Amino acid sequence: MCGVFGIFGHPEAANMAYLGLHALQHRGQESAGIVSSDGERLFGHRAMGRVQSGFSPADLAALPGDRAIGHVRYSTAGGSHLKNAQPIGVDYARGSLAVAHNGNLTNHEALREQLEERGSIYQTASDTESIVHLIAMSKKESLRERIAEALKQVEGAYSLLFLTERELIAVRDPRAIRPLCLGEMPGGSGVAHVVASESTAFDLIGARKVRDVAPGEMVIISAEGVRSEFPFAPEPRKLCIFEHVYFARPDSTIQGVSVYEVRKAFGRRLAIEQPVEPGDDLVVIPVPDSGVPAAIGFADRARAPFEMGLIRSHYVGRTFIEPQQSIRHFGVRLKLNPNRAVIEGKRVVVVDDSIVRGTTSRKIVKMIRDAGAREVHMRISSPPTRWPCYYGVDTPTRSELIAASHSVDEIRSYLTADSVGYLSLEGLVEGVRSIEAREGDAATPRPSADSYCHACFSGSYPIPFTPAAPNRQLRMVTG
Ligand code: AMP
Repeated sequence: MCGVFGIFGHPEAANMAYLGLHALQHRGQESAGIVSSDGERLFGHRAMGRVQSGFSPADLAALPGDRAIGHVRYSTAGGSHLKNAQPIGVDYARGSLAVAHNGNLTNHEALREQLEERGSIYQTASDTESIVHLIAMSKKESLRERIAEALKQVEGAYSLLFLTERELIAVRDPRAIRPLCLGEMPGGSGVAHVVASESTAFDLIGARKVRDVAPGEMVIISAEGVRSEFPFAPEPRKLCIFEHVYFARPDSTIQGVSVYEVRKAFGRRLAIEQPVEPGDDLVVIPVPDSGVPAAIGFADRARAPFEMGLIRSHYVGRTFIEPQQSIRHFGVRLKLNPNRAVIEGKRVVVVDDSIVRGTTSRKIVKMIRDAGAREVHMRISSPPTRWPCYYGVDTPTRSELIAASHSVDEIRSYLTADSVGYLSLEGLVEGVRSIEAREGDAATPRPSADSYCHACFSGSYPIPFTPAAPNRQLRMVTG
């Protein structure tokens, strides 16, 4: 998964992009990059790791101009290497161009083969580069026409930002799989326009969310103002429901609804669908941070106390000190430690958003039992994750997804839990739909029940894909 941020018309564009990316850091920590423009040239800086470690004040000072785009990356296509960091920047016949992409192209392998056959030389292993080649090859006059022609040849999920010396162009794929929203804030001599994967990026810089970018919309921002075009044939809307389950930050709104409120609604529905015997000795605890809002909703509906039974360390990074003698659950304890005070002697409901491989949940169940719980009931605020994502979420292969090959009871046995209960797909979709659009977002059309992509749970893929495209490795590796 990745995050994108763009700003036009602000005297501190690169600083604002830095802050916007900081607020989107949860969408990718592998690399970060910003490209700015002063109206005549583009200036870029990219680094491995997080925004804070990758940009010094001097790096930001070397990014002049009142417009910029930025990217945080979590590799889904292409390996972990600085060459694959974004924004990608190129000089081509018509000038300079930078691109930042969230999503995955499903026909990328075939496209790359065709383009290489025609002589294209790739600098990166990422699917985004094919878009750049297609734009460079287009014979159309204007950039927006070139972008439209290029994107008509790609399939998959894309929330894209393009920056040239003169324009910032934002495009969302016709199914609107990945989020993208528009905002505004006071700029140098008027209004500055901002675009971001999630609205939480606007909060930090004092911008106001105006609206979500519509499916298939191209927003063109220049000194003349903002205008929209719809260059693609319409497709059914398919917002990734996993954004609501796990990916987005809870303080964002997507398609008009608060992610936090949606997660609480998932928890309330989960308590109805997968109840646990009530009693004075029952306590509901989240797996922090991902399970917190759903656990609040569950506890509320189950009329059981919500407690922090697992305490999270916010300072986990790499550790070079490992105990000589094996300590039980050492790895997971670095991040989560059970809080005996709320667990001992209790029947504990543990709420998390999803189980992927099951390895974390298994360790958590054991840890809670060791801390004196009488029973451990695992509750998951989404359906079993059975299918990999081809549209931008980093999921392992099918064989590594525990729910792809195990029944719920087999999962319970593997986790050594007293019970395991998942939210149904209907409960999930209705959970999102039960939350009213917030003020200001009310103009956003209310999504229908079939307007979500839930392929990771249902196997119902809205876009065909070339299966088993392994991460392409760069053959030439330079420093
Ligand atoms: P696992 O041990 O593989 O079952 O991991 C489950 C945990 O991973 C849950 O706490 C989820 O919140 C989290 N999770 C789910 N999807 C992803 C993802 N795409 N990337 C990183 N973490 C995830």
